[in-house]
Amino acid sequence: MIQQVDSLNKPCRFDFFMNDLPTFFNHLECGLEGDRYEADVIHGLSKAGKPLLVRYDLDALVRLLDRDELARRPGGLWRYREFLPVRRTENIVSLGEIETPLVSLGENLLVKDESRLPTGSFKARGLCLAVSMAKELGISRVAMPTNGNAGAALAAYASRAGMESFVFCPDDTPEINVREIAAQGAKVWRVNGLINDCGRIVGEGKEPMGWFDFSTLKEPYRIEGKKTMGLELADQMDWKLPDVIFYPTGGGTGLIGMWKAFAELAEIGWIDGKKLPRMVAVQSSGCAPIVRAFEAGERFAGLWENAGATLAAGIRVPVAVGDFLILDAVRESGGFAVAVEEDSIVESWQRIARETGFLLCPEGAATYAAYQKSLENGLVSSDETAVLFNCATGLKYELPPTGEVLDCTRPVDYAGLD
Ligand SMILES: *Cc1c(COP(=O)(O)O)cnc(C)c1O
Repeated sequence: MIQQVDSLNKPCRFDFFMNDLPTFFNHLECGLEGDRYEADVIHGLSKAGKPLLVRYDLDALVRLLDRDELARRPGGLWRYREFLPVRRTENIVSLGEIETPLVSLGENLLVKDESRLPTGSFKARGLCLAVSMAKELGISRVAMPTNGNAGAALAAYASRAGMESFVFCPDDTPEINVREIAAQGAKVWRVNGLINDCGRIVGEGKEPMGWFDFSTLKEPYRIEGKKTMGLELADQMDWKLPDVIFYPTGGGTGLIGMWKAFAELAEIGWIDGKKLPRMVAVQSSGCAPIVRAFEAGERFAGLWENAGATLAAGIRVPVAVGDFLILDAVRESGGFAVAVEEDSIVESWQRIARETGFLLCPEGAATYAAYQKSLENGLVSSDETAVLFNCATGLKYELPPTGEVLDCTRPVDYAGLD
C-alpha cells in the first residue's frame, strides 16, 4: 500500500513544472568587493564594474530539501530549482534541458557531453536562466555580442519567451552560427571587427535602443545557469567529484559557475569541501590571456592583442570581465591553466572522432589535448579521475571534406572498397 502512495506522489514532469517551489534567492554581491545588491530588481555589473554573484539562504534551503527529494525529480537543470534564482514557475523559459551524459573516453577519463542541450551547446544553460530572469524582471529587449553559440542560445530562448533579441558577431563567425541565430528569430549583424567591437556596439546602443546588455557576465544570471553543470556533475557522480576538471575557457562562465556550485554544495554538507576537483582552464595558444596571467601570478588578465584564428572559436576571448574569478577558482582549487597549440586541437578532434566515434567540438578537443599534455608533464596522473567538458556539437563546425564517389551504373569493384 505504502508503495502505491509513493508512486502516486512521484512528481511527473508536468506537475513538477506547474508547481511553484520555495526560492532562496537572498541578494547579490559584487564578485570583487563583496558589497550587497538587492534581489528582484534589474542589475548589470556592480559599482566596481565587476560581475555580480547570486547569494542564497542555504541554511533554509537545506532544511527544506534533501538529495533523496532531488533524486525523485526528472533530470535536467530545473531539477536544481532551489539553487536557482527564478521565483515563479510561469517565468521559466524552457526548451527541454536534459541531463547531459558522462561518456567514457578511456580509463579514468570522462567527457561531460554538453552538446545534447537545446541549440547544441551549453550556452543553453546560461541563456535559459538569463532569459527566464529577464522575463521575471520585465525585460523585453535584449542584445549581445557573440562568437556564435551564445547568440544562438539567446536567439532561441528570447524567441521562446516572446522577447526581441539583437545579436552582433565578428564577421569571421562561422556561417552556420549566423544563420542559426537568424533562423531562431534574432536580428543579427556581422561586424567588421572583433568580439570587443561588438560589445562596444551593444553597450553604446543601450540608450538609443532601450535594450538590456546580455554580454557575458554583464548580467548576473548566466553564471547560475552554468552552475548547474557543477550540481549535475556532483549528482551524477553520487556526490563525489572527480580529481580534476578540464574546462575550455573563454569568458569563464562555466568554470566560475561550477566552482560556485561546489562551494554551495560543500556549505550545505552534500559534498566534502576538502575533496574538490582541481580546476584546469584550457585555452588555445593563439589567445591565452588567462594562462599568461596564471603563469605570471597575476590576479587580473590583460588584453590579449591580435588573437590568433582558431577552430575553437568559443575560447577565443581576448579579455574577460570575470578574469579574477576564473583565476581565483583555478588557484583555490590547486589547479592550473594550460594553453594548447592549434595543430594538437585539430589532431585530437579528428583522431578521437575517427577512433572512438565521438565527434567532439574543437573546444572539447582542446581539453583532450590539454589532458594529454598534463599527463606527459606530470601535472595529472593516469590513476586520477578526470572530466573533460565538450561544450557544443561537433556538427556546427566545418568538417574535413571527403571525396569518394561511386558509379552505380557500373559493376562495383568491392575489393577496391576495402
Ligand atoms: C562559449 C564556449 C566556450 C567557453 O565557455 P565560457 O564558459 O564562456 O568560458 C567553450 N566552448 C564552446 C563550444 C563555447 O561555445
